[in-house]
Amino acid sequence: MAPKKTAKKRSAPMKDCPKCKKKVHARKTKCDCGYEFPKPEPKAKSTGSSSASSDFLGPMRKRREELQKQLADIDKLKEELEMLDADIAKYEKLGK
Ligand SMILES: [Zn+2]
Repeated sequence: MAPKKTAKKRSAPMKDCPKCKKKVHARKTKCDCGYEFPKPEPKAKSTGSSSASSDFLGPMRKRREELQKQLADIDKLKEELEMLDADIAKYEKLGK
């Protein structure tokens, strides 16, 4: 009989699957239930909360541009309305 190497049981790093709550090996990217763990990004530091917000900054800036454009349109409409009001007032005065 070949002597079996007694595998020392190292406490493998485990993580909990948020879907089925099962323990999954930390290196596994996918759980048996099909849940895929998000890949840890080495660039993103999890220490500060400010770094996480950079993910939102792009869409937020885009939305801000959209709103600014809409605001500009509203300003144009306001101008037009004021001009129309002035014209109406003028013609109303003339009519009377
Ligand atoms: Zn799972």
